[in-house]
Amino acid sequence: MFGTDFIAHSPETKPFWDAAAAGRFVLPRCQQCHRTHWYPRGFCPHCLSMIIDWQESLGEGEIYSFSVNRMKEPYVLAYVALTEGPIMLTNVIDADPDKLSIGTRVKVVFKPAVTGALVPLFVVR
Ligand SMILES: [Zn+2]
Repeated sequence: MFGTDFIAHSPETKPFWDAAAAGRFVLPRCQQCHRTHWYPRGFCPHCLSMIIDWQESLGEGEIYSFSVNRMKEPYVLAYVALTEGPIMLTNVIDADPDKLSIGTRVKVVFKPAVTGALVPLFVVR
């Protein structure tokens, strides 16, 4: 259901999920090349360093691309470009799909997935 379901819980991603459980949105940041990335994983996709820390995100961004699934209740699968740079696959919720466009500004909210874990989704700002 959620575009974030692919994010596995693992020791490498525990800081992300611990923050999410407290309603905080953090991004993995490489201590070697100092770039943030998405999704959380045990190494930097830019330089392959395994030294990762966690940056508090503004939780803001804009729609980079999106599609609307209208099979049942319409839902919006979107790539959101975060202010910090990374582009993440997610869902935009509580929005009229017909009023969304590329560039629509969004902010993070946390909602429980089927597992009960809080996952980052986005609403229109
Ligand atoms: Zn790096």
